[in-house]
Amino acid sequence: MTSILRVALPVPLPKLFDYREGDTPAAVGSRVRVPFGRNERVGIVAARTDATEFDEERLKPVTAVVDEVPLLDGELLATLRWASRYYQHPLGEVLFGAIPIRLRAARALPQQGIAGFALAAGGRAALTDPARRRAARTDALLAALADGPRSTAQLDALAGAAARRNAAARGWIDPVRLAAAPATTGGSPGPTLNPQQRDAAEAVMGAPGFGAFLLDGVTGSGKTEVYLEVIRDCLARARQALVLVPEIALTPQTLRRFRDRLGVDVAALHSGLGEGERERAWLSAARGEAGVVLGTRSAIWVPLARPGLIVVDEEHDTSYKQQDGFRYHARDVAVVRAKALDVPIMLGSATPSLESLANVAAGRYNRLRLDHRAGLAQPPALRVVDLRHQRLQHGLAVPTLEAIAACVARDEQVLVFKNRRGYAPVLLCHDCGWSAHCPDCDRALTLHRADARLRCHHCGFEQRVPRACPTCGGLALNAVGEGTERLEEILKQRFDGVPVVRVDRDTTRGRRLRDALLDSLPDAGARILVGTQMLAKGHDLPHLTLVVVVGVDEGLYSIDFRASERLGQLIVQVAGRAGRAERPGTVMLQTHAPDNALLGVLLDGGYRALAQRLLQERREASLPPFAQFALLRAEAKDKAMLERFLGAAARAAAHEGIVVHGPLAAPMPRRAGADRAQVLIESSDRSMLQAFLPGWLDALRALPDERRVRWSIDVDPVDLY
Ligand code: ADP
Ligand code: ZN
Ligand code: ZN
Repeated sequence: MTSILRVALPVPLPKLFDYREGDTPAAVGSRVRVPFGRNERVGIVAARTDATEFDEERLKPVTAVVDEVPLLDGELLATLRWASRYYQHPLGEVLFGAIPIRLRAARALPQQGIAGFALAAGGRAALTDPARRRAARTDALLAALADGPRSTAQLDALAGAAARRNAAARGWIDPVRLAAAPATTGGSPGPTLNPQQRDAAEAVMGAPGFGAFLLDGVTGSGKTEVYLEVIRDCLARARQALVLVPEIALTPQTLRRFRDRLGVDVAALHSGLGEGERERAWLSAARGEAGVVLGTRSAIWVPLARPGLIVVDEEHDTSYKQQDGFRYHARDVAVVRAKALDVPIMLGSATPSLESLANVAAGRYNRLRLDHRAGLAQPPALRVVDLRHQRLQHGLAVPTLEAIAACVARDEQVLVFKNRRGYAPVLLCHDCGWSAHCPDCDRALTLHRADARLRCHHCGFEQRVPRACPTCGGLALNAVGEGTERLEEILKQRFDGVPVVRVDRDTTRGRRLRDALLDSLPDAGARILVGTQMLAKGHDLPHLTLVVVVGVDEGLYSIDFRASERLGQLIVQVAGRAGRAERPGTVMLQTHAPDNALLGVLLDGGYRALAQRLLQERREASLPPFAQFALLRAEAKDKAMLERFLGAAARAAAHEGIVVHGPLAAPMPRRAGADRAQVLIESSDRSMLQAFLPGWLDALRALPDERRVRWSIDVDPVDLY
């Protein structure tokens, strides 16, 4: 009986392809070359079977086996298969998306271990032959190798590359591959943990296997110190730790802190890596060489040879959700992986997601609390600045400007937070009321003054700023409202001589630039930082004592059901940047709605009170986490076709236990020239939703317009945009 290999290929089809096994056996999880159409492709063996629905005689054999040792181990492959099913994304794309680009081809794995040399027989003879005259360097080289093989780097440091090449040319030394250096231990000691930190660390270290822990600690309470303690314990047991952080938080400073404190090789995985670096980091995790893997979202797919712990820092952060293609949520996958690996997982945040809080309430997660800031730091005082009847100076109220002036006079730092980049969100004609809109979207164009462009932040459309109104020809074009670029200008004018630093996507293009800018922020001296939510997390800013949130109201009036949760998280996270050292901090919230009920709850009871209130509301309204959503998004240039497609999709969704909402226009009904609409699927039960989705997607794929409509499915969407 021949074995049949079920092979995943990187194609957008939700199926596997059957091949006959060739002469070389192929293990599940290995790459193979297979004939596909008229070409050959690289696939990954997802399973073996002895039954196929095709004529076995006519199945083609695999052409070649690329990996002797599977590239994806059993656990990782199983988790990826689970994710493919759960998020309804084709397995081939899921598997190939999980491995570094360089490994997606049929290239064999780079040789394992480190290049080095061993003493050859000729070398031993030369060393002991008193009659031979040798250079002192060659002598030193041979003597060192008499004690055992050394790496090329060590030898070159000792005797120089010339001596090494010379000895190799004479056949005195042989090239070998050395096993990677074992993880060094040590590292520098940190502060003594306070009792709450110690209890938290011990709870996790005491877990016999899988256990999910929510480390719910106010900003600056020393969550990272708890992670470091638990990781140290994990390393001492010769296990690896996988640590996920939001993209913006993975800075050289963070890496340094982990490397210095733990004294091991920390493999970093983030979007700024070259393909070679990414492959090396991935393989060092897979081989167990890296003690710690520190990475952003996609690092959740790293194979771990000796898994011991998973940490997800800032677990509420929405950057853990992939927003296109394979739409997985790295935090949720992390919990599934921890369970499969039977290791503890720690989810940390000062502002936990409502999902995680609901999991605590249901008894699925253990909550560990850190209630106080570490060291001497005091919690910041929150102050509402009522904007009604105030005369604003480009968005800033007089009390705000006074507080900034006082802070600067004390030689302290200020953070002015505004979640909108550019100069002004609207360009308006004062004569006729025309305003600049994106021709392809339903949105105003943002004015960027620095390069005199109008840009659409939704589709990338841009144009020069017109000199005159295109409708009436008038010259009274006014910039209305303010973005970070304008705030920077205002603050520079107003506080002459004080450095003003703007941090947003426009000033941090490219990782190098971004890291350099962020690295310079903690320095002492008066300074005003203006920025978007990029500034809400990441660095410790010890000299920051005042935070101004310019536009609270934008979050209060959003239609997304998660908007209040997000706003609360954002305010608390930004506030947490203030007063992290000995000096107390103040947060000023500018708002036209000082009496807003949710704002009141946040001010009186903090994030925990707000979260309780929001959970209550979600329960009453049957919204996640008390209901399960899947969102079908679709767009097309032909509106009638879009309506036809979604109408049919909604009808096909009639099913017990499933509530269908829509078709509805998307919150942004036109983008990049296409009309957009959606169907929202709701169920009170996750497994009911999971049972329903595959059949529904099959029905969608069979719809006549399917190929002319761009559609996607998003399971557990984080926004309904
Ligand atoms: P979080 O991750 O909760 O924001 P960190 O772990 O970064 O907090 O700690 C905030 C600051 O407090 C850091 O400068 C850290 O060195 C310090 N710190 C943390 N724990 C302690 C402790 N037990 N004693 C003294 N300082 C501490
Ligand atoms: Zn006009
Ligand atoms: Zn646009």
